[in-house]
Amino acid sequence: MGLSEFNQQLSTELDAIRQKNLLRFLRRIDSPQGPKIEMNGRSLLNFSSNDYLGLANHPHLVEASLKAIRDYGCGSGAARLVSGSLKVHHDLEEAIASFKQMPAALSFSTGYAAALGTIGAICDKDDIIVIDKLVHASVVDAARLCGAKLRIFKHNDLNDLEDILKWSLAARNNEGKSSRVLVVTESVFSMDGDFAPLREIVELKDKYGAVLMVDEAHATGIYGTLGRGCIDQHGVRERVEIQMGTLGKALGASGGFICGSRELIDLLINHARSFVFSTASVPAASAAAIAALQWVQTEEGEKGRSRLFENIHQFNELVKRETGNEASVRNCPILPVIIGDEARAIVVAERLLNWGYLVPAIRYPTVARGKARLRVTMSAAHSTEQVVDFSLEIRRALRG
Ligand SMILES: *Cc1c(COP(=O)(O)O)cnc(C)c1O
Repeated sequence: MGLSEFNQQLSTELDAIRQKNLLRFLRRIDSPQGPKIEMNGRSLLNFSSNDYLGLANHPHLVEASLKAIRDYGCGSGAARLVSGSLKVHHDLEEAIASFKQMPAALSFSTGYAAALGTIGAICDKDDIIVIDKLVHASVVDAARLCGAKLRIFKHNDLNDLEDILKWSLAARNNEGKSSRVLVVTESVFSMDGDFAPLREIVELKDKYGAVLMVDEAHATGIYGTLGRGCIDQHGVRERVEIQMGTLGKALGASGGFICGSRELIDLLINHARSFVFSTASVPAASAAAIAALQWVQTEEGEKGRSRLFENIHQFNELVKRETGNEASVRNCPILPVIIGDEARAIVVAERLLNWGYLVPAIRYPTVARGKARLRVTMSAAHSTEQVVDFSLEIRRALRG
């Protein structure tokens, strides 16, 4: 095939995506992340990022990154097992383990890599993975890649989960070999901003002898004592085998992590391919994450969470209740405004963009077809005035 023929094919595929109103493209931002960002010479109010506490450009993190660059340079040089296991990475893992009050932690270059490496390290084709219908793509990809039998339970549906766990018990016994059953869910769902019933899920996995992995990507830094997460909030820390998280959302840095027992972490160091075969994170990112972990546990961190929840409350009062989105009024920085139709979601998002607000129209395959939405995200760094202005404009945009 000639190069031009290949490109012609790709162009046809792109046209098909465009026709379904599913084409995506990158918007270049010329400023740091924050409540206000610069795009094409315009200043926009940003209601699209996962920087819930305003840490991505916080002086405390910036200073820590700069210091790490001076101390360790820019690159880590190799994978951790080769020669890239720098003091800053060890310091980070100690900070994560201490924050989460767990015996041990392991950092990965991203949360995506943490999911891929971890699930692949503990499950293979003889095992069974049971996931919530709405878990993140990183978990879905990991489950598919490791070759285990995959079963999906209806979103947050404990009866469905129990039925599958019952079936898994029989499936395991039938084959007469010891296979593992891994249940994976998210504590806060990334596109809906709702919560998993963690206590009940823990009860079920114990009843049926399964192992539980909880992705706290959107809970870390926000919920529980000092922002430890929902596992802490629900008091099930000692009953969840695998805690996963990212350093790139509320913690304002970059990277992913797993915490759990020493045995789990030692196994991952040996078996998690995304850890073994990938260059260690840059020192600047790990140092920023350490600074963020310190910050979230201070009084300032506490104040940041209060500010965030005030903003969430304000938006819920002005938008969710007013627009009949009442059913989805939640105490969560992820505030989806469900629109349904993909084309209309784009129109509303474009309208808001013209008025100076950046909010993403989330469509298939990130969410189901016909469930397109504006994914509004709130930050502690937004002022009350910004939240009120935006709330009024979003109502106007929905009416038009
Ligand atoms: C963002 C996200 C991840 C991936 O984390 P990254 O550090 O961005 O790779 C995993 N799980 C959930 C639920 C997420 O929202």
